[in-house]
Amino acid sequence: ALTAGIVGLPNVGKSTLFNAITNAQVEAANYPFATIDPNVGVVEVPDHRLNDLVEIFKPKKTVPTTFEFTDIAGLVKGASKGEGLGNKFLANIRETDAIVEVVRCFRDKDITHVDGSVDPVRDVETINLELIFADLDTVEKRIGKIEKKAQTGDGDAKEELDVLLKLKETLEASKPARSLEFSKEEKVWLKNYNLLTIKPIIYVANMGEEDIENPQDNPFFNTLVEYAKNEGADVVPICAKIEEELAALEDEDKAIFMEDLGIEESGLDKLIRETYALLNLKTFFTVGVDECRAWTFTDGMTAPEMAGIIHTDFQRGFIRAETYSYDDLMVHKSEAALREAGKIRQEGKTYKGADGDIMFFKFNV
Ligand code: GDP
Repeated sequence: ALTAGIVGLPNVGKSTLFNAITNAQVEAANYPFATIDPNVGVVEVPDHRLNDLVEIFKPKKTVPTTFEFTDIAGLVKGASKGEGLGNKFLANIRETDAIVEVVRCFRDKDITHVDGSVDPVRDVETINLELIFADLDTVEKRIGKIEKKAQTGDGDAKEELDVLLKLKETLEASKPARSLEFSKEEKVWLKNYNLLTIKPIIYVANMGEEDIENPQDNPFFNTLVEYAKNEGADVVPICAKIEEELAALEDEDKAIFMEDLGIEESGLDKLIRETYALLNLKTFFTVGVDECRAWTFTDGMTAPEMAGIIHTDFQRGFIRAETYSYDDLMVHKSEAALREAGKIRQEGKTYKGADGDIMFFKFNV
């Protein structure tokens, strides 16, 4: 499964956010894989469509799809210089698929800031610079390895060197690798480098309780949004403290609390949805009287690959998929009506799934 790593300077609210995630964690009975690492939190992906399907099919069991966050503690200035903890921190980020960067936007004189004041852009730059330095190190090492080969025209070393030099220039200008565009061929090399600053990023503005109804009234939030815009990144405003409380409540109490706060969706749910989208993840459904279930797939996957998410046998023996869309079901209300309207399709091996597809896989065992 893909995972998003939660990073940030000390005292910005990472542990509080991660507690919220742990409080919201799925039941291990439904997800036996979810009982692993204490630094990993597995949460449901909020999706009203699954509720609508349950209304129609009234299944015995409902299983939402999940998403995983990893708590990555321990960033200190100088991490990229390879001192103990710093190294481990970078290695942990390397294993994630996206970065969720928590940035302090709340004022609280009782909680010290490591750099003396609340300043979201300075904080983001502190972290991002460490990641940039680490990538620069990776790139320079690789340049050292292939420079000679590139001069003698050995293989495609010259082409690779061009990519590396492009990266070096960008990183030296304090810009992340994700700010560059790469061709398909270049991406193959990039995979081998496993750079940190190429991972997609999303910022979490951790705000005070008083700001949560109108985040744009908090100037720290606005500067962060402005900064992130230059990178093409999103900012999710949350109050980690409130999220921690919300996540511990039962649905009914949660709804009452949210109404009091004047919010329609919890910050955590918003963060889950946005991170999911950031990673190009989509959802398909399987439905029936026994079970309605949501499944995560990556945009661009074919029907057999989607079948393989449920079971490798489904992929191996794939014959075809019978499919219709959630939207069509909402119009026609039943499978019988869909069939009559010709909205149920038979799709083969090359079919690429769409978000909201309802799938039945036919396969040989
Ligand atoms: P970490 O070091 O980044 O993991 O930060 P913590 O989650 O331990 O939070 C540091 C301190 O800030 C704790 O005392 C939290 O209670 C407090 N804190 C976290 N989020 C908020 C918030 O939204 N508002 C306020 N006032 N305090 C917060």
